Amino acid sequence: MRTLIELGLRPALGGDLGGLLHWLNSHGLTNTAGVFDQPSDQALPGASIVDKGVALAQATSRNPVRPLKQDELKALRERFKGLSLEGISPEAMWAAVGNAEASVRTLAWDRSPADAMAFYRPFHFPPFDQWGIYLLVDPLLRYHRGLMQQSSGLRLFSPETLMHLVLFEVFNHEFFHHLVESTATTLEILLATQGIPQPLYLQHRAAQMRNSFGHPHAPLEEALANAYAYNALGFISRVKTGFKTASVKAYQKAVAKHWGKEPPGYRDAHFYAGAGYVDGGAALLGELLQKPGAMNDVPLAVVAKHVMPSGFSALLAKPDVPTWLVGSPAELALFNALVPAPNEAYTQLFWPYNTDKFDQFIEQKQAEVKAKKAALLATRAQGAAR
Ligand SMILES: [Zn+2]
Repeated sequence: MRTLIELGLRPALGGDLGGLLHWLNSHGLTNTAGVFDQPSDQALPGASIVDKGVALAQATSRNPVRPLKQDELKALRERFKGLSLEGISPEAMWAAVGNAEASVRTLAWDRSPADAMAFYRPFHFPPFDQWGIYLLVDPLLRYHRGLMQQSSGLRLFSPETLMHLVLFEVFNHEFFHHLVESTATTLEILLATQGIPQPLYLQHRAAQMRNSFGHPHAPLEEALANAYAYNALGFISRVKTGFKTASVKAYQKAVAKHWGKEPPGYRDAHFYAGAGYVDGGAALLGELLQKPGAMNDVPLAVVAKHVMPSGFSALLAKPDVPTWLVGSPAELALFNALVPAPNEAYTQLFWPYNTDKFDQFIEQKQAEVKAKKAALLATRAQGAAR
């Protein structure tokens, strides 16, 4: 049998990322002016955190995060097996299982936008070996310290679990920026088939910076990125009730309660958390296509609901997006003590700590509630039979 190549049926342009980047570049869809790491880029609040003199492009200032192998994960679990998480009360966790909202009612967190602690460097800005998610370790640690102080009274988080939650949230916010760039890239490829390549992504960034579309939640991409991170936490807490679920729920409620303290766009995330995500996605698609009102004439909501921007539209999956920890060796050591497996932490909220003690407490409480209910039903049934 002849192969697709022999039959001339194999695409001359393949599906690999390297080929794509070359294609984008050779069709004028990238910004080669090299301005991306200048702190003056206002679309990048994270960049201003880094001193003017520090070029993020320097390979020495970033450390790639790679997924751990199975035996490495096993060794980690073994190492942390005996560590008891400080600052958490099983009773407080149990209360959060029942009503996470009430558990964080008294909390007053100083919220920082995710982009103050991390940023996404798009691949539409060569050089291509620089793209990815940059996690700024010092701002992350400082933010974490502040939250720890402000929430210690709740007894819901240990320093380790809170850092994992912050990291997961921040990474997922930045990952949404990758989804947007992936979506724009898909549209750029499809539009190019019609003969006129259009730099949709670069146009979108410029329009967003100028707030050209006058959207009340501009920059809409930031509102959606916050909502995406919130929803990603929701997926984690869908697994069986236990310590992790309770921590996630409490953290999620705390985050949503404090969005209002963030800059425009970011603070409007509540419109797009949960089901509103599709509506926001449709509006964003309209903006990407330079037709902000298009969702009223064309069923963009269908695309937003089923195709993009969603996890399916990502050109690289979460564990594979190049991700860099930016910080001094001392900062990285502090960070690693709290988060020994960063890739697993930000993609799946994995932590190596043994939380059996808390899980068992919650399980026991649940069994008690169930027994009480059963007893009540039995009493009622007896009463009805009499
Ligand atoms: Zn952002």
